[in-house]
Amino acid sequence: MNSPAQLYKLQQIDLEFQRKRQALNEIELQLNDTSLATAKSDLASKKAQLAEVEKKQKGAEWELEDLQQKVKQIKDKLYGGTIKNPKELINLDLGIKELNKNVRKKEDELLQLMSEAEDIQGNIRSDNQKLEGLTEEWQRRQQTLIQRKSEVEAKLASLHEDREELTKQISPEALHLYEQIRTTKEQAVAKVERGRCQGCHITLPTTQWQKAKAGNLVQCDSCNRILYVE
Ligand SMILES: [Zn+2]
Repeated sequence: MNSPAQLYKLQQIDLEFQRKRQALNEIELQLNDTSLATAKSDLASKKAQLAEVEKKQKGAEWELEDLQQKVKQIKDKLYGGTIKNPKELINLDLGIKELNKNVRKKEDELLQLMSEAEDIQGNIRSDNQKLEGLTEEWQRRQQTLIQRKSEVEAKLASLHEDREELTKQISPEALHLYEQIRTTKEQAVAKVERGRCQGCHITLPTTQWQKAKAGNLVQCDSCNRILYVE
């Protein structure tokens, strides 16, 4: 194999390596997907929210019981027959009315909290279902991704070996020129087809591509790439 052919082969290995490297990056990005973790933390915060509402609900229940107890005590006094003073009786009656207002307020508050808790419970149920689906899907996807990752890594290792093996056979000047052009261009070697450089599509002088075909290191005058004729 002459120098241009070797360099063209090297370029194919390098391009394939680049593609596989990119594929590996994409797989790693997908493996780092955080949507499942986000769903889990959303669910946890809803559970915390529910606990908070249930605590308020408990508190409201106690306060309501307390108020009802007070109403009962005053009613017992009022209808117990021990108090005869009309003014005192009127005051007791007013006290009951005031307490009943508070009872109704507390009952409303309790109903509000119960309905809030129900809403959150409903959300938690549907989130739990979604999370189950997400987890199953993720486990399947993760398996596929891990398998693909190891395939791509094996391919990268074998490309690396191929490159090592090939570069041993290429002359240092040719390799140096290839690496130098590659610092500014993705592809340092251009095929010549029907007398045209496939890097920049300019028509080359016949003598130039014939030299390249004979195995000489010839660069395109226009784009500087190393010319390779099959
Ligand atoms: Zn060119």
